Amino acid sequence: MHIHSALSPCGDADMTPNNIVNMSIIKGLDVISVTDHNTAGNAEAVAKAADGRIVVVPGMEIESSEEVHIAVYFPDLESLFEMEKIVSKNMAHIKNKPEIYGEQLYMDSLDNITGTEENLLITATKLSVYDIFKAVRALGGVSVPAHIDKSSYSILSNLGALPADLGITAVEITPRNRPRLESEYKNFNILSNSDAHYLENISERDFYIDVFDKSVHDIINYLCKMR
Ligand SMILES: [Zn+2]
Ligand SMILES: [Zn+2]
Repeated sequence: MHIHSALSPCGDADMTPNNIVNMSIIKGLDVISVTDHNTAGNAEAVAKAADGRIVVVPGMEIESSEEVHIAVYFPDLESLFEMEKIVSKNMAHIKNKPEIYGEQLYMDSLDNITGTEENLLITATKLSVYDIFKAVRALGGVSVPAHIDKSSYSILSNLGALPADLGITAVEITPRNRPRLESEYKNFNILSNSDAHYLENISERDFYIDVFDKSVHDIINYLCKMR
């Protein structure tokens, strides 16, 4: 539920729509989400490349004004693109330096490069954590604070706690810290994802969520409800 494509500057050029989908299928995953930094530019290509062979949840990873990473998920591409418009309006327009940050490649569903993003995507937006939660909820999506146990770019490192009035229903904990932290966050739905930037880092089916139907709808619903 947290994979970066070649559109993220830190994502390897081999992270093409078909490579991501096919590697995920080889790894035995039922569900993936490509969550590029502050963009959904390759989301449609990934969905088309999957062609129903694996469930793809429309998503992105937004960086708040407090430099907190929030993974956001939507029931359909339309609502994801609405959120992307809001994010795009609230981005600082800084030119990417590919030699430092890496290329930002748009691709189609056949892995052809269709363009490059000139503005650097890994920057804080002007949206606060509260703005993100509110906008995502209004569009029928769900916000999941990403890698909360990391010492940077996480809600715990930057805000010091999970704000009680934010309406958090799910958190992402990195796989290695999950055994240690699971009981502390037992009232939340917990996701543990690879946050893969390279193909070989896409994980196997180590973690599970309980849904009635393996569908985007049921996964979003699951994440929206408190345990
Ligand atoms: Zn992140
Ligand atoms: Zn990430």
